[in-house]
Amino acid sequence: MLTDPLPGTLDVRKAASRGATVRGMLKPLDLPRFRDLLAADEGVVEAVLTLSRDEEGRYLVQVVTDSEVTVTCQRCLQPMPAQLHTDSTLAVVWTDEQARHLPAWLDPVIVAEEEYSLRELVEDELILALPPFSYHEQADCNTVLADLTAEPEADEPPKKSNPFDVLAQLKPGDTHQE
Ligand SMILES: [Zn+2]
Repeated sequence: MLTDPLPGTLDVRKAASRGATVRGMLKPLDLPRFRDLLAADEGVVEAVLTLSRDEEGRYLVQVVTDSEVTVTCQRCLQPMPAQLHTDSTLAVVWTDEQARHLPAWLDPVIVAEEEYSLRELVEDELILALPPFSYHEQADCNTVLADLTAEPEADEPPKKSNPFDVLAQLKPGDTHQE
């Protein structure tokens, strides 16, 4: 288990040239855009970033994350635990032009400044990896209980009164006869 926080920024060129590995922990509150998609502040994100240069001289960063967070079950709208694992290798580039020259299998990370925010990178990976909809396992879902007690929905149109009902009431011979 990692305990040190992930460093905020990194000089990618230097780190890649010496093949550095950077690892650390983050909390959902460290990643506000990701936190917005979660149901609670609690949780932990472990990130391991390995920097390298390939034979073509490209700067690569492999981002591996393991997270335990809380999301909302879209069936019962209650919180539920979620585990995320991501593993992707991206090419670090500094201009759009460089990004266009990458092979199709290599996604770019465009770094505007020399010092790149590792948290942004990890946050983007987490947002991409988070399923758009999460559901409890059927047995754990609170909707199962709710369904048993739910009132049937009153969505039938109101019944129109039948004019013959009125006639029937007026019909003679309907009264008690001794
Ligand atoms: Zn549920």
